[in-house]
Amino acid sequence: MPAPLIELDHVSKRYPNGFLALDNVSLAFHAGEIHALLGENGAGKSTLMNILYGVHEPTEGGVLMQGREVVHRRPADAIAHGIGMVHQHFKLVMPFTVTENLALVAKGARRAALRRPADVRAFMEGYGVELDPAAVVGHLPLALQQRVEILKALVNDSRVLLLDEPSTILTPAEIENLYATLRRIRDRGTAVAVVTHNVDEVLAHVERYTVLKRGRTNGTGLIAGTTAADLVERIVGHAVANTERIGQPHTAGAERMRLAGVSLRPSSGSPGLHEVDLALHAGEVVGVAGVEGNGQTELFELLAGQRRPEAGLVQHSGPRNTVALVPQDRHHEGLSLDLSVAQNLLYPKIMRGEYHRAGLLDHRAIGKQAQAMIAEADIRTHSPASPARSLSGGNQQKIVVARAMAEAASVVVVYQPTRGLDVAAALAVLQRLATAADAGTTVVIISSNIEELIRVSDRIVVLNGGRITGELSAANASVQAIGRLMTLSQPTHSMPLEPVDA
Ligand code: ADP
Repeated sequence: MPAPLIELDHVSKRYPNGFLALDNVSLAFHAGEIHALLGENGAGKSTLMNILYGVHEPTEGGVLMQGREVVHRRPADAIAHGIGMVHQHFKLVMPFTVTENLALVAKGARRAALRRPADVRAFMEGYGVELDPAAVVGHLPLALQQRVEILKALVNDSRVLLLDEPSTILTPAEIENLYATLRRIRDRGTAVAVVTHNVDEVLAHVERYTVLKRGRTNGTGLIAGTTAADLVERIVGHAVANTERIGQPHTAGAERMRLAGVSLRPSSGSPGLHEVDLALHAGEVVGVAGVEGNGQTELFELLAGQRRPEAGLVQHSGPRNTVALVPQDRHHEGLSLDLSVAQNLLYPKIMRGEYHRAGLLDHRAIGKQAQAMIAEADIRTHSPASPARSLSGGNQQKIVVARAMAEAASVVVVYQPTRGLDVAAALAVLQRLATAADAGTTVVIISSNIEELIRVSDRIVVLNGGRITGELSAANASVQAIGRLMTLSQPTHSMPLEPVDA
């Protein structure tokens, strides 16, 4: 086999905050091969791509091209070495035509050639892409906008093409077409690297795979002879640290809320939602598992009432439910970091005019109530008057959860509740949620942490490509079974998304 076109040579990447995102990774990409990068959220896939593309520099080790060390300090360096990248979020100028978008990044003679429509067509046909060079990009469907991104990445005759989760937003038929294009590109001697979570897609379409796990390589090789079970095991399987149940199992009560055939259109970076049916009952913990970016944000917003479905219904049984939220981003949406712990804990109540006396804030009453909440939720703070900013991440999250609980809502929706927390703080947060379900609250936990979902949920649904691909009772759930549902090819999007009257 000839020298790899591009390789990582003992690369480690430590971010300025000290986090080791890649730990001594050596990996080669060959001309004429499609190479899939797999791994859980946070495994280091984007970091690896960004090192190849010059967004980040390795802390240790280096990048070799055809055996020679290259230094990519910025994307322009990587582009000059013939590397192109297609990001998850498109970087297209929507009102411009296909040709104009290509011309923005083309250099030298290629740029001049783009003035001739026949040359644009010839360039595209060389990769098997049929597109009208004069089409306005914003008018093209997402799958074709993605094709324009691919052409942009290739326009300066790139020999390495990197794609970050290109299939997440595509339908199965579009995924087939994407790989038909990637094969054409590969056959012209390009090394293609694709980040994906879809194991079936990898088995069907690529030559080589690498699984990353916590910044290290957890298997690499030819796809021939590999099975779905093997890949899933490499991606999600490991010695499970702790399987102990958090809280008691619950018996679900009456139905409270139901999503019936709910759909939202896909967009760049999101697969949308497709015919989601989900009934939520009193006194149960429902886990929503999935790789990030598979419709979780959309589901959260629908349950929160922040967004309306484009098709289908969000129904409330009986009186309209109150919904309390623990958002994913606690620093921006969950907390006002400069306000005190007490103000953050009681923020919704203060905004509703509670804790006012004669038009002024009743700081004594606020302090007293906050003290009680701090004690109950075991929030470690110097005082209720300390700014939220001064607390550890775990204690900040306890504030957000305690505030949601204090709303006494019938439904609580929490999104990645334990991200970044240490084991003890994560356990405290999950225990608090389980206790709320004991008291009849409907608890929905959206998380990419399969283990914690198995430990705390009564049942788990899996969101994949904006669809629910399966449901398991926690008693029957295994990390492998959920991992498989998270990495399955999804059925065709069968429902036409008609606009609905607002
Ligand atoms: P993946 O693409 O596999 O989901 P990433 O490469 O994005 O993983 O991230 C790997 C790990 O590095 C994650 O834990 C992430 O939180 C961390 N990380 C990513 N970017 C940064 C950054 N700029 N600073 C600190 N940590 C980061």
